[in-house]
Amino acid sequence: MSLINDICTLQEIDDEVAGLEAAIADIDGRLAHSEPLAAAEAAFAEADARYQDLRRSQRALEADVAALDAKITPEEKRLYDGSVRNPKELTAIQHELEHLKAQRSQLEDRLLAVMEEFEAADAARRAAEAALAAARREREQEVAALEARRAQLASALAAALARRAGQVDRIHPASIRLYEDVRRRRGTAVARIQGSTCSGCRVAIPESVRRKAFDPATLAQCPNCERILYVG
Ligand SMILES: [Zn+2]
Repeated sequence: MSLINDICTLQEIDDEVAGLEAAIADIDGRLAHSEPLAAAEAAFAEADARYQDLRRSQRALEADVAALDAKITPEEKRLYDGSVRNPKELTAIQHELEHLKAQRSQLEDRLLAVMEEFEAADAARRAAEAALAAARREREQEVAALEARRAQLASALAAALARRAGQVDRIHPASIRLYEDVRRRRGTAVARIQGSTCSGCRVAIPESVRRKAFDPATLAQCPNCERILYVG
């Protein structure tokens, strides 16, 4: 086999290696982050925060109502148990009771409104929780499939790298260095001669270079883009 054929084969293997590495990197990215799961987590966190907020508001209002009850009950007792006989004092107690009951009624209205909001928030939180659980189950299946695919790609990559090592052994180190240098700079190291043009850069190849490309023992390079040329 000619040197240029060996280099072409090496390029094919390197393209395969690059493709496998890109596919593995893509899978690693998808394993690291799931947009639907992140969205479900954010939606649940938001619903949960609202639920907790309203629960705190409800408890605070309930405590305020209880505190007013604790003031109202003894005042009512004093009003009706006959312990206070002074009419002025009785009127004062009545006024105080009216004031406290009006306050309590206001708080109870707010409490009712909050309880309604809490009920809706509770339902929304449950729905978000169920959606999150479903997203987690889906993600588990996705991760299992991605990991299985990654393992296949990793073993294909290992096989390609082993083939590459064998291919490199067939080629003189100076030619390998040239190939790798051009590949690093140009992406593709080898270009076909089409008619009298380099297929890599579309510039015409001088006849002397074209003749050199037919020599199985040497490598010819495009004078313009420096790619290694082959005839085929
Ligand atoms: Zn060229």
